[in-house]
Amino acid sequence: MELLSPIDTIKGVGEKTTKLLNKLGVYTIEDILLFFPRTYLIYPEVSTPNPDSVNSLISIAGRIKTSPKVFRSKSRIDVLSATAFVGDIPVDLVWFNSNYLKSSLEPGKVYVFYGRLVFDKNRYKISQPLIFETEKYEELRNQIQPIYHLTKGLSNNVVLKSVKAALDNCKLPEKRLPDEIEDKNNFLTYSQALKTYHFPENFDELVKARKRLAYEEMFFFILNSRLQEDKSVSYPNNFKICHHSQTDDFRSSLQFALTGDQDKVLNDILSDIQGEYVTQRLIQGDVGSGKTIVAFLAMLDVALSGYQAAIMAPTEVLAKQHYEGFVKWVENAGLNIPVALFTGSMKASEKKAMAKLVAENDSCLIVGTHALISEGREFGNLALVITDEQHRFGVQQRDKLSSKGEHPHIIVMSATPIPRTLAMILYGNMHVSAIKELPANRLPIKTCVIKESMRKTAYKFVSDEIAKGHQVYIICPLVEASETTEAQNVTDYSKKLNEYFDGAYSIGVLHGKMKPADKNQVMEDFANHKTQILVSTTVVEVGVNVPNATVMMIENANRFGLAALHQLRGRVGRGSAQSYCILMNSSSDNRESERLNIMLKSNDGFFIAREDLKLRGPGDMFGVRQSGEFSFKVADIYQDADELEMASQDVDELLKKDPSLDNHPKLRSTLNSFLTNQFYVL
Ligand code: ADP
Ligand code: MG
Repeated sequence: MELLSPIDTIKGVGEKTTKLLNKLGVYTIEDILLFFPRTYLIYPEVSTPNPDSVNSLISIAGRIKTSPKVFRSKSRIDVLSATAFVGDIPVDLVWFNSNYLKSSLEPGKVYVFYGRLVFDKNRYKISQPLIFETEKYEELRNQIQPIYHLTKGLSNNVVLKSVKAALDNCKLPEKRLPDEIEDKNNFLTYSQALKTYHFPENFDELVKARKRLAYEEMFFFILNSRLQEDKSVSYPNNFKICHHSQTDDFRSSLQFALTGDQDKVLNDILSDIQGEYVTQRLIQGDVGSGKTIVAFLAMLDVALSGYQAAIMAPTEVLAKQHYEGFVKWVENAGLNIPVALFTGSMKASEKKAMAKLVAENDSCLIVGTHALISEGREFGNLALVITDEQHRFGVQQRDKLSSKGEHPHIIVMSATPIPRTLAMILYGNMHVSAIKELPANRLPIKTCVIKESMRKTAYKFVSDEIAKGHQVYIICPLVEASETTEAQNVTDYSKKLNEYFDGAYSIGVLHGKMKPADKNQVMEDFANHKTQILVSTTVVEVGVNVPNATVMMIENANRFGLAALHQLRGRVGRGSAQSYCILMNSSSDNRESERLNIMLKSNDGFFIAREDLKLRGPGDMFGVRQSGEFSFKVADIYQDADELEMASQDVDELLKKDPSLDNHPKLRSTLNSFLTNQFYVL
């Protein structure tokens, strides 16, 4: 079995499993090896059902007294049912469409069952519990189980077995980095690190494996950007762009004045695009600081000067939002500048019409997702390319857009709070501008951390805000109920919420597994105030702007990294009304409340991320809380800051001796395969 063999080379992976794995972006053996666990689980000690453990995932050791029964439900599902006795406490167990399990449960014998305990009609019950022989369970208790991202129809066990088979049967390279670097850093070998990251024997090993993989990812990331930079340092700027009075007129027609920082950054950009060389600039501005209007004003000058200007957003929802905003602004300004939109979910005919628009207009504004760069699209007269929330794009997508046209000016915008030194490493020789100041009309968002017992009060608050004409976001960690994770999911939650409010509000549901067109519709309905409440996963985190929403309620807030919570909180407080953020803490661990309390102390994204890291410590691997930046699979720029620094120094040293990697042909090909494996994160 080779790294690039298709996934069905694994024994036991048939047509059905292949399809499901494909859905998760796994096509080859290498893909599944790099399909890293989402988190890890140590099975709990067996316990006795009690009122406190209701709704939790628990393990019980229960005796099956009589043979399990099978019956067919009204919805024509085969239901297998049995009762396990823990001492004399009965616990009802059910499995769906799993009749084959019947023979594995012998009457009279004790088994361990793992699942979520519920209490219904005066009886304890567990649906779909996992079944273990008691000795086997004790063995498992000593192991760390990897938990993978799944899709409907695919079980964790199937993924786990496939990974194991790939690890056992595929010969992996021991070394991927130049010898001197492998030796100097005293890493686990590549193959050891992969094995350990999937199946760690203990915590320390896991930390070591992570260290190598994180280092490697950042090494290749930095190596690639240094090699790219070198090619692009000094293209002469042949575009004739100047500032136009129409842009000023439009600017003064806005309902607000730009903040000092916005004005400064806009000037930076304007002097860049009139400079001697083509620019590369990073604009950092925390959520809500108003990056979009700055981008638009720059694009407007470019279009008025007779060129095309494009902005690329990481999600359809965001691209659509920019598009609609831009169309309105152009109209308000009374200008005749076409705006084109390209997203993956558009019909072929719509795309064709847009392509025609672009082909026929030397000067226009172009908005899109990564669909801009796929499908062989060409832009003949592109002078400025902006990527919004750029850290969400894979390395390649970014490079690709800038290769359209004749070396256009490049601006990347990001809300990732990182210090300057880090920015220098990650963005190399890009110029950096920051928007630090928030618009003056903003009231600080009021934040509170609450426990389950306050839920009613929170919902009352939600309905009071809706009564004032405002809207509410509620975030749940999961899309649908999960056998391995204890957290709210948008599917069940929205139903429960609707019952709770007696259907009084119209509730939208949004998550990453929906079709892009459906997502757009849901977002549009929320933006147009057709829905009052939006129950969503973190897909809403990236850049969405609905100023009328004043409440952000986050369920199981303890499951999120603070950087992510900060981004989510930034979805409210975007208008002049007072906004609120309610963090529901579902953990009884004191350290969790301490961590969440950091959110009360500051509204500064970087401060928050740093404090989070201090509290967690680098060894906190459970529920690996990635800040989700830079679409790294393992690395996290905060958690692995030391490795990042090391990788940066090592790359610099290497390139000093071998600037175009002529003496390292193997490294060059590893870099290329690294780049193709970076996938796009929505
Ligand atoms: P982000 O930097 O997070 O992308 P946006 O560009 O989406 O922020 O701006 C957030 C909101 O603030 C938008 O509704 C925008 O119109 C508004 N806004 C931008 N600049 C100002 C300003 N100077 N004064 C008041 N409101 C502003
Ligand atoms: Mg934005």
